[in-house]
Amino acid sequence: MRRFHCVCGHEVFFEDSKCSSCHSLLGFNPETLTMVVLNEDPTLRACALRNHPVGCNWMVAEDDDHEQCRSCRLTRTVPQQNIPINVQRWKVLEYAKRRLVYSFIMLGLPVVSREQDPDSGLAFDFLEDQRTNPLVKKRVVYTGHHNGLITLHVSEADDAYRVKTREQMNESYRTVLGHMRHEIGHYYWDKLIRDSVWYPRFRHMFGGEENYRESMDNYYAYGPVPNWEKRHISAYASAHPWEDWAETWAHYLHIMDTLETATDFEVIHRSTSHSRDFHLLMGEWRQLTLMMNALNRSMGQRDPYPFSLSRQVIVKLRFIHQLVAGSESA
Ligand SMILES: [Zn+2]
Ligand SMILES: [Zn+2]
Repeated sequence: MRRFHCVCGHEVFFEDSKCSSCHSLLGFNPETLTMVVLNEDPTLRACALRNHPVGCNWMVAEDDDHEQCRSCRLTRTVPQQNIPINVQRWKVLEYAKRRLVYSFIMLGLPVVSREQDPDSGLAFDFLEDQRTNPLVKKRVVYTGHHNGLITLHVSEADDAYRVKTREQMNESYRTVLGHMRHEIGHYYWDKLIRDSVWYPRFRHMFGGEENYRESMDNYYAYGPVPNWEKRHISAYASAHPWEDWAETWAHYLHIMDTLETATDFEVIHRSTSHSRDFHLLMGEWRQLTLMMNALNRSMGQRDPYPFSLSRQVIVKLRFIHQLVAGSESA
């Protein structure tokens, strides 16, 4: 994520809706990736959720038929609003989603909404378990992706739930943004791999994707394959090639976003971050993540980057890097 500035020159953050120096009301324009002053440009208006308790600081083109911004309108189902905690949960989920959408715009990845394509366009359902509601058929909600539709269990927005689940599942990393980046990976597999020239290379690198159900049942019954670290970014990635793909994809987005932040703060050189040489980028990434972890330990925090990248994982990341660069120029 890059840094942003108010018209007065003061540094502001992606989430800000007001400048702390000159007090201008600000909005983020996703078309230009800049911060603008509210009501100053007649071709722009604020997202309809700006003054809603959920809040959103993005702008919409005045002539857009939608009341909501590019990010908010991707949500098809919001958590039940008669439960007070759900307003806060929805807020947390939208907050992460704006960062997710920023990455697509930044990387030049195509996004087709479900409204544009009712069969396989992108939409989000933020749902909760309905165990106590006898009227609802599907009572237990699983976070997942199906044909462009991403379902997120709203409890993932609660820190206590997420940490508990992370420990139960013996995971080292679990965040809302991470979930979104993973699930969107399945969406992009459908869009960029399945029917494309990249498909044979995918199979060669990640493996054949037959027997999905069986592989997942095996994973939940017997755990990850031994020595999964040698070939996969996470234990879960070893469950099946599709999950390996989504985990690696999410990791690629983590890397590109964090490298952009580090470049903008001049922690790493601009020339390196714009380099086409993927191994050079990985070298910088390694140094940066060592530093991130060390800084956090100084603050008594756990490692924000509990990963180590094996040679085979780097090869997979490079494949995604090439794919993204290809779809950008297309
Ligand atoms: Zn200002
Ligand atoms: Zn919005």
